[in-house]
Formats: sequence, C-alpha cells, structure tokens
Amino acid sequence: MNAGSVWPSAAAKSRLHPIDPSGTEILGGFWARRQRLNREKTIPHGFDRLQQGGALGNLRLAAGGQGRYEAEADSGGTTLPFLDSDVYKWLEAAGWELARGADPALTAAAEEAIAVVTAAQRPDGYLNSFVQVVKGGLPYGDLAWGHEFYCVAHLIQAAVAWHRGLGDDRLLTCATRAVAHIDAEFGARGRPGIDGHPGIEMALVELARVTGEERHLKLAERMLGLRGHGLIGPGRFGAHYWQDHEPVREAPTVAGHAVRQLYLDCGAVDAAVELGDAELLAAVRRRWSDLVRSRTYLTGGTGSRHRDEAFGDPYELPPDRAYTETCAAIASVMLAWRLLIATGEPEYADAIERAMYNGVLSGISLSGEEFFYTNPLQRRTHRAAEPAGQHRRAPWYPCACCPPNLMRLLSSWHHYLATSDPDGVQIHQYADADLTAGDVRLAVRTEYPWQGRVTVHVLETPDRPWTLSLRVPAWSRSVNGPVVRHARRWAAGDSVVLDLRPAVRVTVPDRRADAIRGCVAIERGPLVYCLEAVDAPATAELEDLAWDAGRHPREVPRPDLEPAMIGIDVPVVDLGSASGESLTAGAIPYFAWANRRADAMRVWIPA
Ligand SMILES: [Zn+2]
Repeated sequence: MNAGSVWPSAAAKSRLHPIDPSGTEILGGFWARRQRLNREKTIPHGFDRLQQGGALGNLRLAAGGQGRYEAEADSGGTTLPFLDSDVYKWLEAAGWELARGADPALTAAAEEAIAVVTAAQRPDGYLNSFVQVVKGGLPYGDLAWGHEFYCVAHLIQAAVAWHRGLGDDRLLTCATRAVAHIDAEFGARGRPGIDGHPGIEMALVELARVTGEERHLKLAERMLGLRGHGLIGPGRFGAHYWQDHEPVREAPTVAGHAVRQLYLDCGAVDAAVELGDAELLAAVRRRWSDLVRSRTYLTGGTGSRHRDEAFGDPYELPPDRAYTETCAAIASVMLAWRLLIATGEPEYADAIERAMYNGVLSGISLSGEEFFYTNPLQRRTHRAAEPAGQHRRAPWYPCACCPPNLMRLLSSWHHYLATSDPDGVQIHQYADADLTAGDVRLAVRTEYPWQGRVTVHVLETPDRPWTLSLRVPAWSRSVNGPVVRHARRWAAGDSVVLDLRPAVRVTVPDRRADAIRGCVAIERGPLVYCLEAVDAPATAELEDLAWDAGRHPREVPRPDLEPAMIGIDVPVVDLGSASGESLTAGAIPYFAWANRRADAMRVWIPA
C-alpha cells in the first residue's frame, strides 16, 4: 500500500505531507496490540499459507522448478491467474515490518520469497508465473482477465516498501525491469492497453516518486487516459465492471467492481497530485461523495453485490447479502488517505477511521490467523453452521487477496496517524504513539477507542510558533467543527488534552435504505456494535429480538474478548414470546464478531 504513498518525494505537491514513518511508533493500546499480532502471528501464518497454497511454488515453477501449477479455486473451478500478487503483498508487509524492527525468522522467510521472485523473472524483465508456466510464456494475451499489470503493481508496492523502509533495492530492480517490459509494449510508442484490474496506475506514480523517473508517471497517465473508452470490451459483466464505460475524469459515480474502482481512483488521485490536474482530482472527489452518501455501509464497507463484486445501486445496502469485501474496505482507506493529503479535509480521515475500526478489522480474527473475505452485517441463525469461508472465518482462501492486504495495511498503519504542512502538525487518527514530524516530536497518550481522552505531549519543538491540529471525529463533533487548532510558540513539556466522549449512540438509517428501514444500530465512539447470538438470552432467537427504546443501554467491560474492550448491554424485547418479554442482549464491537462459536449476528436491530 504504500501508505508511505507520498512519502517523501511528493511532499511538495500535496496539501498535507505524510510524516517520516521511521520516527513514528505505536507503543501501546488498541493498535499496538494489532500490529504485534500482525507481526508475530498473521505474517508468519501468511508465509506458511503462501507455501502450502502454492503461490510461492508457482513462482518456483517459473524459475525452472518442477511441480504442479496452483491456479484453481476450490469451488467453481475458476482459474486464478493472480496468485503472484499475494506473494508481493506479503513481501510488502514484511518490508514495512522489518523497517519497524529486526526479526531473524521474518528476514529468513522474506529472503526466501525474494530469491524465488528474482529467480522467476525472465532475462527480458517479464515476470508473471501464470503466463510463464501455464500460458506458454506469451505475455499480454488476456489483458482483461490476466492481471499481468496488476501483479506488477503489487511487485512495485513491495519494492517501494523495501526501498523506503530498508534501503534494499533488489525488488526495486526487479519491478523496474518488469515495468520496462510493459512500457516497451504499451508505452507512448506502443499499442494501447490497460489491465482489467486497475492498480498499476498508483504503483507507477509511486515508482516515479521513488526513482525520480518521469516515464513511470507518463505511463500511469497514459493508462488512466485510455480507460473509459471500451478498450477492454464488455466481458461477462459489462464495461463498467472494470470502469471502462466512461473516462476516468468524467464518470460521475463509482461503478462496477468495488476494489477495481477504488484502486483506479487511488491512481487517479496520485497522478492528479503529481500533474497538478485539478479536474482529475475533482472527478475522484465527486465519485467519493457518491460512494459515501449512498453506497457505503455503516461499517465503512462497500460493495453490495456478490455476482460481480460490485457496488450496487444507491442505497442498495442489504445487511445480510452485503458483499463488503475486506479488500474493498482497505481500498477505501487507501483512497481516503490520498484524498486527505491531497485536500487536507478531515472528512476523509473520518472515513478512514470508520472503515478501519469496522469493515477492515472485521476481516481478521482476534487470533490473527483467520479471515473473512466478505463482511456482511447480518448472519441469520439458519446460516450459522455454514462451512468456513462462507459465513465463518477461514484460515486462508483459494483467492487470498484479502489476508495479505490486511497484513500490509496493519504493518504500515502508523504511517496514517499524522501529517505535517508548513503551519504545523495534524493528528488524524488516535493511537498511543510517539510521532516525529520534522523538528517536532510528540507523544500521544490515549486508550482510544475504548476511552476518549487523548493527551498530546510536546517532547521536542522548534523555537517558532506552529499549529497542532487535532481531528474531532465526526461522531463527537459539536459546534467546534471538525478540527481543533492550537497555534502557539511551544515548549518541550507542554501538553494538550482532547477530551472526546464516546457515549453509546443509537443510529437510525437513511430512509432510502429499504433493507434496514425500521431498524437501529448501536455505536460507541468509532465502533459499530453488533448482537451475536452467543451473547443473547438462550431462550430467544436473534431474529426475534427488537430494540427496547424504553430502557437504556449500559456499558460493560468485555475482557473475555480483549483487555479494555467495552461491550454494551442492549435492552431488547423478545417478539417471539407471547408476552413480549423484556430481555438484555450483549453487543460487542462488530470487528470482534465470529471469534467464538459459529453464530447468528446482526448490526441493525428492529426498533
Ligand atoms: Zn480481497
């Protein structure tokens, strides 16, 4: 991901500038727990799965090894030509992790993966195990479905992480050669071609930032310009599926496959910032507004349709049939981050917060070793016993795009906390962390999101006035507006307190969202809560419980699930009982569901 996305070379061109991640460390609390789990459990687990599942083996075959190529999904027999990208996403996560601190076992695993990747690359720079092993080595024969540029995109992002985080350019050399192969055939003097799955656009901009070579930016600009003219054809789902139905700078709404649209718009923002293209940036902002207004679930998840993994119509937000792929929530974080630094507007940081605490984190178990691909907001009782991967977490997926995407986001999450600009430092996300922004060093101390108090201590400061800006999350906003600004001449030892009050809220859906009309949801701070049958009275079925507005919900500690976690006892009535019995059901944060027995769950509760 590149959370480091515009660090540091584009600093002059964006409104806000990412801070140096090497001077930022999450020390405790909610996010330290998750980064530790990611490092110690999830990433090693991911390497084992890449070995077992065949993704690394496929690259070994491309390097001349013997064996069977793994490209078949378990169900449906769909061919998956993009498994190389899982290795690259894992390598990106490993790169960010090793930049945070040494780990001999992780280094050994990463060295093995890098050796396989570099050995698989052909002398002419081409690299794609599926084409090399299965397709007779003939490149670019199926741009619509082949994911060749897409895989190179993830190779670039891994290369960027290793370059920026570790000063290790082995993957950068590999990625640059792979891009040169593409550029020779599809660059300014080549034939027009774009990938059915966007992603290379943002990666190329990143590569231009890292290498200083403008040709990569030019290639990104060319690919962005070619999309939207029907070049790829309608495919199975229509041209909008891969955003080839309208030019990128004209399409008024998001459309088609959610991850593809959001990755494409990430590249559009990156290119717009580099090129000073206000029209292109405005087009993405229009689409973002449409997305947030009418096609985003309460959890920050997006994508209502299973068939083509698409957004769906405005307000088509069924909780039980929500597709809401983990990758789509991650992609929305990536896009919101780019829009935040491009514009400086705090609403984008609000969107990052909502997606991270809910629709992203629901994708990974509390153990760090099981995942969700789809993240529905309801699982009915009769579906609770379905096999892993459907409505239950699975240790891996045949199409394993989501798990390593989570790994790279969590390993780089500290990049997203704060930014700087000529006026000072902006803190967007609250974590117990030390931050360095130029000659300013800050210590942020908080038990967010469980508690709302955030204290910022100034550890080091220049002898000139500057402004500390603190985002006031949308859920706690009052007349003060979305940002509190403290402008002054600071001294080491100064501190500022932001006292947010994460009280329990009862949320009513938009009247246009038919599937959840007449329901309420429980939220507290940035967290969406859900009822899970294991926490409801055994005498009632979850589908029979309705919100009892006459009684008050009550906060309760839930250390059984996680230290410091706060659950909510929700007053309900049992509509299945003759007398409409008054009961209490325990609500937990949505991200923590499906960590005990396979069970029914719901976010939206009938009122
Ligand atoms: Zn995914």
